[in-house]
Amino acid sequence: MPILLPTINQSPKLKLVARVDGIPLYSGPKFQELLYNVDQKYYPSMKKDFKEAIYNTKRLIPCIVNSKGFWRKLSLILGWGVYMSAGTVGFYDVNRKKVYLILSSMTGFLTLYSNYHVLGVQCHEFQHVACHLSPQAAAYAWRVEEQWYHVFLIKAVELGRLEHGAVRALMPLFKMLNKAEARGRSFQQAYLIFKTLANFAPEPWIANNFLKIGNALRQGKWLIRADEWLYLYFFEAASYAYHNLIQEYHLTRYTDPDVSMYYQELFAPSEIVAMMASIDFKNPISVKIMHYGLDALNKA
Ligand SMILES: [Zn+2]
Repeated sequence: MPILLPTINQSPKLKLVARVDGIPLYSGPKFQELLYNVDQKYYPSMKKDFKEAIYNTKRLIPCIVNSKGFWRKLSLILGWGVYMSAGTVGFYDVNRKKVYLILSSMTGFLTLYSNYHVLGVQCHEFQHVACHLSPQAAAYAWRVEEQWYHVFLIKAVELGRLEHGAVRALMPLFKMLNKAEARGRSFQQAYLIFKTLANFAPEPWIANNFLKIGNALRQGKWLIRADEWLYLYFFEAASYAYHNLIQEYHLTRYTDPDVSMYYQELFAPSEIVAMMASIDFKNPISVKIMHYGLDALNKA
């Protein structure tokens, strides 16, 4: 079902609600109403929590952006808690503990958006929120994440992207990363992952690149310029791991993301359940984690 969004020019009641990385975001009552209507229709059992998050705690913010350079800027970053699907973009601002759903980045046009994309992006972001704010949610998410990492690593070795021994060396590190993520302290752990990836890289130039990313993460940089080679390097293994999840959990494909943009999975395990949520925002695992996230966010 498409929804019709007003633009900035048509909505004098819009207010500047935040700047994310310098980009101004605007919101207003119309957007709150649009989102609330969609949420209560698709998740009637969570209607009260959504109402609370949109209108009272205001930690879930539907908004639009009026910036021409927005997409270019966004496509250059490798970031934790940023996700887009067909024109809808979600950000989870870890510091402010707020979720921004950017419903439109068009100016001067009326735009048609599918509820499915909005719901997919929303559910995606709430998986990050849940795994960040609730250790219980992160522990619950681990069984899906563990399976994904296992299949991903085995496939990566099979394809010659990593040397033998990588699976056994990396699995315990990913488990620790899952726990570190829930405590909001995953920088050092993410560095260890990339250092270990470097140890199992088949060629020195690959090892050097892994170390470069690891060092940036160690310095606390969640936003790193995306390296295209990394995307291509693990594409097949990551794709394979997601297809495995789709089959294993009988996911219905509402949206069609093959793999996430730039392997957030390697430094943020919640990206795995987040991608699962984008693929199928109605599957029981994603809905349960979203409920944890919504609750934790309202109480944060
Ligand atoms: Zn994400």
